[in-house]
Amino acid sequence: MRDSNPFIHFEAISKVFGTVTVVDSLDFHVAQGEFVSLLGPSGSGKTTLLMMLAGFETPTGGSIHVDGRRVEHLPPHKREMGVVFQNYALFPHMTIAENVGFPLKMRGVARAEREARVKRALELVRLGHLADRKPSQLSGGQQQRIALSRALVYEPKVVLMDEPLSALDKQLREHMQLEIRALHRELGLTVIFVTHDQGEALTMSDRVAVLNRGKIEQFDTPSGLYDRPRTRFVAEFIGETN
Ligand code: ADP
Repeated sequence: MRDSNPFIHFEAISKVFGTVTVVDSLDFHVAQGEFVSLLGPSGSGKTTLLMMLAGFETPTGGSIHVDGRRVEHLPPHKREMGVVFQNYALFPHMTIAENVGFPLKMRGVARAEREARVKRALELVRLGHLADRKPSQLSGGQQQRIALSRALVYEPKVVLMDEPLSALDKQLREHMQLEIRALHRELGLTVIFVTHDQGEALTMSDRVAVLNRGKIEQFDTPSGLYDRPRTRFVAEFIGETN
């Protein structure tokens, strides 16, 4: 079922910058509701892959389907995906509620509906009480939860995250890992999560795609990767401890 009707489907996707092939004819299927991590060392092509899914990069070759729609040439705002980056920039002069509501305002959503959606999105990350504050009055962890709330405000089916927790200290990172997993379950989201941290990928994901030089070495469950690594690269990368 998973592969006969994939929700996200990359077919022979490539990305070449100049003469360098960064993503190399990659096939990749994700089922609806799955939590999938893209794991690999720096420079292996994880961010480029995510940016092509989000619409910030155009593939050099291949196709991307999401929910039955071909999307690789659509601009980001037509893809209806929530996106959270490591360097989540909140607008400093706006309140938290205005920050979270900004993507809706840009799309012309009426004020009353915007306010209701912002309230719900802030409640999801349990920060409704900070709606009237400015970003500078929040801790780093709170700001990151606001960035997550802003990504959820469209009520997207797919959420893309690029190293969203790497700027946080260990304790907060572990706490946020649990929160993101809980939101994934509660909202039935399909999540694609980029990380270079093996532990994070293995504890959070239903499946993990291990990338090396623009190719997927193995796409498997955490226990599959751990117990049956198919290549030396996977064995060495999964075996490393941070
Ligand atoms: P990762 O997320 O795994 O660290 P990236 O997708 O960011 O990997 O980068 C993969 C490779 O592509 C790197 O060698 C990087 O230097 C190169 N790259 C990424 N974006 C560009 C770009 N806009 N122009 C040229 N090279 C790029």
